[in-house]
Amino acid sequence: MLPPYVNEALTDFSKPENRAAFDESLHRVKAELGKTYPLVINGEVISTKETFASVNPSRPAEAVGHFAQGTREHVDQAVASAARAFESWRKVPVGERARYLLKAAAEMRRRKHEFSAVMVLEAGKPWNEADADTSEAIDFLEYYARQAVRIADSSAQMAEFPDEQLGFYYIPLGVGVIIPPWNFPNAIPAGMVASTLVTGNTAVFKPAEQSPWIAYKVCELFWNSGLPDGVLNFLTGPGDIIGARMVEHPQTRFISFTGSREVGVKIYENAAKVQPGQKWLKRSILEMGGKDAVVVDETANLAAAAQGIVDGAFGFQGQKCSAGSRAIIVDEVYDRVAERVVELTQKLNVGAPDAGPNVNQGPVIDKDAVHKILGYIELGTQEGKLLCGGSPVETPEGGYFIQPTVFGDVPPDARIAQEEIFGPVLTLIRAKDFEQALAIANNTEYGLTGAVFTSRRDRLEQARQDYHVGNLYFNRKCTGAMVGVHPFGGFNMSGTDSKAGGPDYLLLFTQAKSVAERL
Ligand code: NAD
Repeated sequence: MLPPYVNEALTDFSKPENRAAFDESLHRVKAELGKTYPLVINGEVISTKETFASVNPSRPAEAVGHFAQGTREHVDQAVASAARAFESWRKVPVGERARYLLKAAAEMRRRKHEFSAVMVLEAGKPWNEADADTSEAIDFLEYYARQAVRIADSSAQMAEFPDEQLGFYYIPLGVGVIIPPWNFPNAIPAGMVASTLVTGNTAVFKPAEQSPWIAYKVCELFWNSGLPDGVLNFLTGPGDIIGARMVEHPQTRFISFTGSREVGVKIYENAAKVQPGQKWLKRSILEMGGKDAVVVDETANLAAAAQGIVDGAFGFQGQKCSAGSRAIIVDEVYDRVAERVVELTQKLNVGAPDAGPNVNQGPVIDKDAVHKILGYIELGTQEGKLLCGGSPVETPEGGYFIQPTVFGDVPPDARIAQEEIFGPVLTLIRAKDFEQALAIANNTEYGLTGAVFTSRRDRLEQARQDYHVGNLYFNRKCTGAMVGVHPFGGFNMSGTDSKAGGPDYLLLFTQAKSVAERL
C-alpha cells in the first residue's frame, strides 16, 4: 500500500536558507555547462559527428550543452529497440513498474534545486517558476504511480455472471513516441514518460530542441534506477525531421505530444495515415495551445482581479499554454482595472533569472520567439492602444528580453486577441456587460483555461455551464494547475481533450481487455 498522494510543497524563497541552497545548486550546475550528450538507444550511448547547442536565453553565447543530431535512421533503431523491449516490459507487474516512478520521484526530490537550476539556465525560468516545474514533475511521478496500480486490474468493476470468472484489464498499447514542448521542460517530459512507462508501454522520447539538457537529466533518473534497456530511448534533433519520422513509423502505436496547434494538427493528420506494414490505428494524445481569458465584472474584487490578470499573463514571461493573454473587463470597471494592471506590470523585474529570486521576468526562449513576439507588438500598436512595455530590453550579452507589454481597448477579433503570441503580451478588451464578456471569452478557436472574477453566484453558475474551456477558475488566476487537483487539458483547438494529472489520463495509454473463464 502506498501512502496517499500529496502535492510536493513549493520552496519558500523568502527564507535565507532556501535562497542559499538554491544558489549553491546554481553554482554546481554551472560547473556542468557545455558538456556533450549522446543519444541513448537500447541502453547504448551513441554519439554523432554533428551536434547542436542548447543555449542560455539570458546569454545566448553560453551553450548549456551540446546534443547529438539524430537522424531518421536513429528513429528507426530506437523504435525497433522499444518494440523489442515491449515484449518483456508489458509483462512486468504494475507494482514493479510503479516503483521505478517512485524511485525517480525520490531522487528528483533529493536533487530538487539542481533540476530547477538547470531550467533557470536552459529555459530562462525565474526561480519560483522553475521550482513549481520541478514540483509538478515529482507530482506526476507520484500520482501516476498510484493511478496505474488503481486502474490496471479493474475486474472488480464487472457485474457477477453465473459460472464465469470475469477479468477486465487495462493493458498497454506498445511503442509510444513522446514529443514535448520546451516550456515545462521538466514536468511535461516527466509526466509523459511516467504515464507511458507505468502503463507498460515503451518509449521513444525526443525533447524540444530548446530544452534537451533537463530532459536528459529526467531520463537519467530512470536509467540509473535500473530500467531495462530499450524501455526508454532518448533522441535529440530537429522536430520536423526526427519527430516527424517518430510519428510516421509503422511500429509506433501512439503519440504523446504537447506543443503548438500548428505542429499538433500536422501530427494528427500524419498519424492518421496507415503506413505499409502497420497493424493498428495510431492513437494521438495531443495537447496544444491556448488564447486564454480572464473575465472581470463590475462586482468583482478589483484588486484581486488585477493581480490575477498580471500573474496569469506574465508568469514565465507569458510562455504558458494556460497564460491569461486576454483580460475582458466590463465597461463600468474597465478603466480602474486597466490602471491597476499597468501599475502592477510596470513593477515586474526583468533580468537574467540566475541573478536571484527577485527577478520575475526572464528572457523569452529564443531568437525566433523574439521576432514573433515583437511582430505581434508591432501589430498591436495598430490594433489597440499601447499602455506599457512594447520594446525589447537590450543587455550586453544579447539576452532575449522583452518588456512585459499591455495593450488596451483591443477589439475582440483583432489578431492579437485571437492568436497565441506565447510571450509577455496582454490584451485588454472592453465589454459592455458580463454576457458580452463571456461571449468574447468563448470566441476563439481554443478552449484551454479561463478565469472569472465576480461576486455574483448566478454568473459563476452561468460560466460553469457556458464558458467552454477545459480548466476554468473562479476568483483566481488561470494558471498554476496542480497534479491531481486540477486535471489539465483543453477543448477545441487546444487538444484532444485529455486531462493530464487526472484520474482518467492513464486510460489513454492503455486498451481494455475483457476475459471470461467458464468455471
Ligand atoms: P512546437 O509545436 O513548436 O514543438 C513541440 C514539439 O514538437 C517539439 O519537441 C518539436 O521538436 C516537435 N516538432 C516540431 N515539428 C514537428 C513535426 N513536424 N513532427 C513531429 N514533431 C515536431 O511547440 P513549442 O514551441 O515547443 O511549445 C509551445 C507550444 O506548446 C504552445 O503552443 C503552447 O501553448 C503549447 N503547450 C500546450 C500545453 C498543453 O497542455 N495544452 C502545455 C505546454 C505547452
